[in-house]
Amino acid sequence: MRDTAVPSALPPHVRVAIVGGGFGGIGAAIRLRQRGWEDFVILERASDLGGTWRDNAYPGCACDVQSHLYSYSFAPHGGWSRTFSPQGEIWAYLRECASRFGVLPHFRFGHEVRGARWNEARAHWEIETSGGRCAATVLVLANGPLSDPVLPDIPGLDAFPGETFHSARWRHDVDLAGKRVVVIGTGASAIQFVPRIQPLVKRLHLFQRTPPWVMPRRDRAIPAWRRRLYTSLPGTQAMVRAGIYLTREAMGLPFRHPALARLVQRLAIRHLEASVRDPELRAKLTPTYTIGCKRILISDDFLPSLEQPNVELVTAAVAGVDARAVTDSDGVRREADVIILATGFRATDPLLAPYVVGRGGRSLAEEWEGSPKAHLGTTVAGFPNLFLFLGPNTGLGHSSVLLMLEAQIEHLLGALALLHARRATTIEPRAEAQEAFVRRTEERLERTVWNSGGCRSWYLDRTGRNSALWPDGTWSFRRRVARIDPMEYVTSGDSKEALGVAGQAHA
Ligand code: NAP
Repeated sequence: MRDTAVPSALPPHVRVAIVGGGFGGIGAAIRLRQRGWEDFVILERASDLGGTWRDNAYPGCACDVQSHLYSYSFAPHGGWSRTFSPQGEIWAYLRECASRFGVLPHFRFGHEVRGARWNEARAHWEIETSGGRCAATVLVLANGPLSDPVLPDIPGLDAFPGETFHSARWRHDVDLAGKRVVVIGTGASAIQFVPRIQPLVKRLHLFQRTPPWVMPRRDRAIPAWRRRLYTSLPGTQAMVRAGIYLTREAMGLPFRHPALARLVQRLAIRHLEASVRDPELRAKLTPTYTIGCKRILISDDFLPSLEQPNVELVTAAVAGVDARAVTDSDGVRREADVIILATGFRATDPLLAPYVVGRGGRSLAEEWEGSPKAHLGTTVAGFPNLFLFLGPNTGLGHSSVLLMLEAQIEHLLGALALLHARRATTIEPRAEAQEAFVRRTEERLERTVWNSGGCRSWYLDRTGRNSALWPDGTWSFRRRVARIDPMEYVTSGDSKEALGVAGQAHA
């Protein structure tokens, strides 16, 4: 599928450099082209596009948001095979979009961005990649919050002679049939692959640190006649999408209203009771925090798979690994041939942060000190012409992040239009606008279950602040972000007249 005609040379200067070729990068590229912008590249470290949907190829990987909503609004796809389509189909959709909208020639594969430095005199970003250097007026970090795996610091793990891999780097060449497998973690990834590998393996020891709340998934095949209907009459699919959208917005309410959360919790308890007969196992699987504090997982087969005779749920901590076994904190050794780490991602601690250096030689890591902050989750004061996709406080617990992403893409387009209208070279948020946004977001988050539900999740950064999630519905983010407010930005060509002109240009 990949277009072999993709040019590989890196131009010395581009108008826009996009880091990452997943949903964010491809979506931005499509919308840039639709607006007539062609002077851009997508710097992709891998040899193919797709981001998280290329990397997470573990058995059973699928999206836990319905496909009719987890797709671009500007590229509807009537052919989804299931309510929650599998990874391969989502990846194929992305490749099809990249090809159909003509963005493949903009890709530079095998170009891992190692750092980017703002050059004040030249008003551009100087970008260093594994494939060479380039400069860009505007830099878009679309490399995703869930792209760099967390590898836990477990004594002896590095020296384990068997196979070890992270769920996001699944080793399909490792045959699990008849093997003794240890899985560490019970998050959204583990609950999808555990039921798939359980029938194959000899023994499966699943290390659970915190039990997840699990709700029914109710995945269904979409019959061929409905797919034909959606394709031939796109309005029908748009109605389905709208219905899912509204249902999902309503699903966001329990995160802000504890009484509703208790109701949902009751449903989850019922699901657990219906799925697991053994009371001892059920007790181990019953969370002690409020539902929603960690991501609510959906599965119909994860809980029943834990009752199979070859599965053991271990609730003691992982203490260490030696040549043959994993030892828990009670001193119990479990022999293992393969260790699978389903231990999540560096969501609030991005690897690139120390190497993106803005005005005055200050890096994002220095600016953030372990707790990322951005204006509208998208731009950062002191970092001109920088755009973050799915940046701080843009994650969701209830709906499709593509809704957030699309608003951010429109924000980028608005900023480019503003620069053009003002004949300016730089744009960045006013520090006071950013502070007000961050303060308001923090206030809104205080009342949510993520901050007060009694759990420790990846939504909380190392300072304990929730810098991952958006506190409200997606509609309020879209309303606030999709249309740029020129008054919240400083441009190099600032003047009172320019503000008026820019406002009209974007309208
Ligand atoms: P995760 O939700 O962060 O889960 C990591 C798991 O590993 C948790 O159970 C965690 O326990 C455990 N863990 C981490 N370090 C450990 C250690 N040293 N010892 C024992 N256990 C340890 O990661 P994920 O499952 O990969 O999911 C990450 C995010 O990706 C999700 O929240 C979701 O946003 C996204 N995702 C989405 C889908 C989808 O369908 N759309 C599918 C997969 C993933 P604690 O809970 O105690 O920290």
